[in-house]
Amino acid sequence: MFDIQKIREDFPILGREVYGRPLVYLDNGATTQKPRCVIDAMTDEYLNVNANVHRGVHYLSQQATELHEQARETVRRFINARSTAEIVFTRGTTESINLVASSFGQAFLHDGDEVILTEMEHHSNIVPWQLLQARMDLRIKVCPISDDGRLDLSALEQLFTPRTRLLACTAVSNVLGTVNPASDIIAMAHAHDVPVLIDAAQAAPHMPIDVQALDCDFLAFSGHKVYGPTGIGVLYGKEKWLDRMPPYMGGGEMIGKVSFERTTFNVLPYKFEAGTPDYIATTGLAKALDYVSSIGFDTIMEHERTLTNYALRRLAEIPGMRIFGPQASSPQQLTDPDDHDAVISFLVGDIHHLDLGTLLDRLGIAVRTGHHCAEPLMHRLGIEGTVRASFALYNTCEEVDALVAAILRVMKMF
Ligand code: PMP
Repeated sequence: MFDIQKIREDFPILGREVYGRPLVYLDNGATTQKPRCVIDAMTDEYLNVNANVHRGVHYLSQQATELHEQARETVRRFINARSTAEIVFTRGTTESINLVASSFGQAFLHDGDEVILTEMEHHSNIVPWQLLQARMDLRIKVCPISDDGRLDLSALEQLFTPRTRLLACTAVSNVLGTVNPASDIIAMAHAHDVPVLIDAAQAAPHMPIDVQALDCDFLAFSGHKVYGPTGIGVLYGKEKWLDRMPPYMGGGEMIGKVSFERTTFNVLPYKFEAGTPDYIATTGLAKALDYVSSIGFDTIMEHERTLTNYALRRLAEIPGMRIFGPQASSPQQLTDPDDHDAVISFLVGDIHHLDLGTLLDRLGIAVRTGHHCAEPLMHRLGIEGTVRASFALYNTCEEVDALVAAILRVMKMF
């Protein structure tokens, strides 16, 4: 049984007030709050175990190393990778994608080659490829979306050519909540012999990920969006690619032997982990993933689906409400809940998104406003920005009611 009150008690911050009102935190797409077990595990490691990993012969270093490598195994299990050699710790999705753009780019891309992105990508899956463009003649092709925010798969099919070297695509839109058919997209790309990078930043907190079933070549996600700490993320990569890619950064731990004449590199995944890793954060991340797994995605998805459907129904009652994304065509009820995630982007009448967000904040409601690091998507939708409410496993229908009541109150002020 899913006891929402008990779940909320796991997250100390949810009990606080802002401006003298109970906090209603609906900015989970940006970052999620942390359960006490994550905070405790990290504090405990600082208090009792702290020592640099991998390098020490002493007790604490070995204990810290063990925790760090256990965390890698927890991540492996969470996404069902074949081996921990395929789990590279990074600072987050952004660094993971930059690593692939730089290192895969160096190994496999040549002048005149092409990568395919989509119109709904976050800037962190656009700009790294543009940085690469500054170093070589790389063509970036963009899969368009339909008016209701779904990828146009027949247009995607047309983009592949013999020069296509990679498709990099988000699993879930951070603006529209669209859940892309990742398996179909990967199968399509593989039919053209093109590997696929999946940006799972918005998927990891909301649905199970199985990299072997997906058969993706790379997958990236951030710890802080899945109830874990900031500053830690994951790059999954198939060994066959990672093996042939050069290191992204140089430094300690990523080497085999170093001399001024010749340096060799460490085995996977350490080849991509230069310097002291954030081993406290990996402990926190593992705890967060265990926490999510202990509740279970069946339960989380059912709860978040109920919540999102309720929010869509309630928001649609508001005069002048304009909702963006796959649910816009039937805002009363998601027709296919599997293609929409717990994110709702909207505008109300002609109220500017920033004004609405600022006034909602004064009423205790934390939402995000702006372009959500997806400016090309905003251009496609013909808007400057939206207000975005994004849910997590601890949100409640009462919080949706508070959001709706607050929007109605703001409307009265205009
Ligand atoms: N991709 C998507 C779809 C995202 O939503 C985000 C975060 N908003 C990122 C990438 C970047 O994640 P991070 O800032 O944690 O690296």
